[in-house]
Amino acid sequence: MSGPKQFYDYVDANQDSFIQRLSEAVAIPSVSTDPARRDDVHRMGSWLESQLNKYGVTTRAVPLGQQELEGKVLEYPPAILGRIGDDLSKKTVLIYGHFDVQPADKSDGWNTEPFQLHVDRESGKMYGRGSTDDKGPVLGWLNVLEAHHTLGLELPINLRFCFEGLEEDGSQGLDELIATEVAKGVEGWFHGVDCVCISDNYWLNTRTPCLTYGLRGIAYYQVVVSGPASDLHSGLGGSIYEPMTTLILLLGKLVSVEGRILIPGIYDGIAAADSSELQKYQDIDFSVADLEKIAGAPIALSEDRVTVMMGRTREPSLSLHGIEGAYSGAGGKTVIPSTVSGKFSLRLVPPQTPEDITKKVLSYIEAEFAKLNTKLKMKVELLGGGNPWVADTKHWNYEAAQRATEAIWGQTPNYTREGGSIPVTLTFAQNLGVNVLLLPMGRGDDGAHSTNEKLDISNFINGTKLLGTYLYEVANISAQK
Ligand SMILES: [Zn+2]
Repeated sequence: MSGPKQFYDYVDANQDSFIQRLSEAVAIPSVSTDPARRDDVHRMGSWLESQLNKYGVTTRAVPLGQQELEGKVLEYPPAILGRIGDDLSKKTVLIYGHFDVQPADKSDGWNTEPFQLHVDRESGKMYGRGSTDDKGPVLGWLNVLEAHHTLGLELPINLRFCFEGLEEDGSQGLDELIATEVAKGVEGWFHGVDCVCISDNYWLNTRTPCLTYGLRGIAYYQVVVSGPASDLHSGLGGSIYEPMTTLILLLGKLVSVEGRILIPGIYDGIAAADSSELQKYQDIDFSVADLEKIAGAPIALSEDRVTVMMGRTREPSLSLHGIEGAYSGAGGKTVIPSTVSGKFSLRLVPPQTPEDITKKVLSYIEAEFAKLNTKLKMKVELLGGGNPWVADTKHWNYEAAQRATEAIWGQTPNYTREGGSIPVTLTFAQNLGVNVLLLPMGRGDDGAHSTNEKLDISNFINGTKLLGTYLYEVANISAQK
C-alpha cells in the first residue's frame, strides 16, 4: 500500500459512519429531470458543499442559469467547484462527479424504498437510488478527505473538484462553465490541472476491476417520408406510392443483419488493432455468456469473445430505434400513414466525427431514395451528435490507477472501452488538454438507472481506499519522473 497505514486503518474503523453518510445522501431525492424535485437537487448541492468545507476544501457554487419547464421558470442547480492544496511541487488532480440522480419510485419494481438506503449486511449490498451512480463514488472522495483532515495528514497532491447536478439531464451549462474557466487562464479554477479522474462508470463484470480509456461517440438521425395530404384508407392501396413502404426500404439499406454498416466509406480511416491493443482485449475477463446475460438472451453476433467486445467498443455500429407516425395500437387499423419518420443512430469511434459521417449518411440515403423513383418527399437530418474519446493508457495517470487497483483488489485491472458515451469526458480532455482516466468504483451488475440500484459495501470501502491510494500513486510516480 502506498498510502500511510493510518489512512487505511481510519477507513476500516469508520465504515459505519461512511455508510451512514451515504444514507443521508441517498435520502435527498435529487432527481434533476423532475421539476418537482428541483429544490432537492439544490439541497443536495448545498449538502455536498458543506461536507467539502468541513474538510478544508474551498468551494464556489457556480450558477448555471434558468430553464422553463412545464410553464415554470426553474433555477438550474449550481455546479460545485472545490479546491484544496496549492503546492507547486505537487501534481494537481481534477475530480469530476455528479450529485443528481435518475428518477425512481417504489412502484417501478423496487423491493425497498429507493430513497432510503437499504443496507443488507448478509449479502453485503446497499440498495438505493444514486448508491452507485454517482453518490457512492462522490462520497468515496469525501471519505478520503475526511480521513486526511481528521488524522491531520497532508494530501499527497493538490485537488480540484467539479461536481454537477444536471448530469442526468444533459449536463446543461457545464461545457460553457469549463470553457469559461479555461479561458480565464491563471485565474481559472482548473489552472494547473495535470490530469482528470472521473468515477462514474462500472466494471465490465462482477469479478474484475477495470480502468476505462475509451467511449464511443454518437450521431443521431431522422428520415422523414411524406406524400398524401392526410392518413388514407388502405382501400386506396395499389394505386398510390406509400411513405411507410419507402421508409422501411430505406432503413433496410443501412445495416446488415450481422451489424455491418452498409453506408459507403463509413469505415474509412479506422485503424486495425495492433498487437498491444489486441492483447488488451485478450486480457479482459469477459465472455460471450456475460454479454448474453446482459442481453437476456443467447443472441451474440459471434461466438468469439474478442470479436463481440470489439464490436461493442472499438467498431462503429448502427441501430434503428423507432418509427414515428406509424400505427401502433391494438388490433388492426387499415390506414396508410401520410408522414412517417424513422430514427436511427450510429455509435462512432476515432477518427469518425458526426460532421464527417453525416456527409456520407446524407448522400447515401438521398441516392438510395432517388433509385426508388417514387413521387414521395424525403428529408434526412442529423438531430444531435458527440465525438468519440480514447485516452493514451501509456500515461502516468493510468499507471497510478493500475498500481492502486493492484494494491487494493489484488488484481490487475482490465483495460476497457465502453460502447456508450459520457460527454463530459471529452469536454475535459479537449478543453484542458490533459489525460483523462475513468476509474470506476461499482460492479457491472449495480443497475445504475434501473430498479434496485445497489453498491456493494466492499466496493464502497475498498473503493474509498482505491481513490486514496490512486492519489498517493500519482504523487509517487511524478516524484520519480
Ligand atoms: Zn452517473
